[in-house]
Amino acid sequence: MRYPAISSDIQRFPPEITRAILVGWNDNRDMPKRYLHVPFHDKDEAKRLGAHWDETAKLWYVPQRVDEKLFTRWKPAENGPNMRADYYFIAATTRACWHCRKITKIHGFILPSGLKHLYIAEDPKEDEWEIYDAPSLLSYITDLSATVSARMAEQNQHYRMTYCDNAQLFYWMNHCEHCQSRLDDSTTFCELGQGFVPSTPEAAALIKLIPINESFAAHVGTHSIGIELFKYMQN
Ligand SMILES: [Zn+2]
Repeated sequence: MRYPAISSDIQRFPPEITRAILVGWNDNRDMPKRYLHVPFHDKDEAKRLGAHWDETAKLWYVPQRVDEKLFTRWKPAENGPNMRADYYFIAATTRACWHCRKITKIHGFILPSGLKHLYIAEDPKEDEWEIYDAPSLLSYITDLSATVSARMAEQNQHYRMTYCDNAQLFYWMNHCEHCQSRLDDSTTFCELGQGFVPSTPEAAALIKLIPINESFAAHVGTHSIGIELFKYMQN
């Protein structure tokens, strides 16, 4: 049997940006794994077509010598970065898991004042990087640079790309360290009094900021302009 050639689509991505597709490595450690974004209800179809399951990453991928054209519908979207910064913070706190009720660590990204945000104009020629003079809390991150995702992995092995049924989107999400339940961004990053949106200085002081003196690049779905009680997190 002749196998179709593997196309090197991966090279079309901007080099500094990775998505789940670039995070893992194949058995021979030469080729990055070609991860797919397969919603749960499509898993049987993906398996039938020959996709394999990566138990560590919890993602389906295209094995070597299998034509990835079969899996086009599940290929991760190609989003270049829309947020950049010269340095950044990994924010750490805890929350109760909705499933097992245990307290689990959770992490997120905060960019300092001076960050750059790609403004998308109607005419692409007018897209431009604007500079914010306020810090920003990021959520619904769909693409993360390889260096940044590696730094996060040092802090939290359970922060990974997952499909969110509510948002109908794959993004980098916290998971419970005890039961692996998905802790989606709507609570952790968007609800006052929860996770990274504290309602009191005391609650803000429980959020620990880990400064990372490296550049940041990501494609981010949602971000704040300014962070309430930010000064109380900086201790
Ligand atoms: Zn749990």
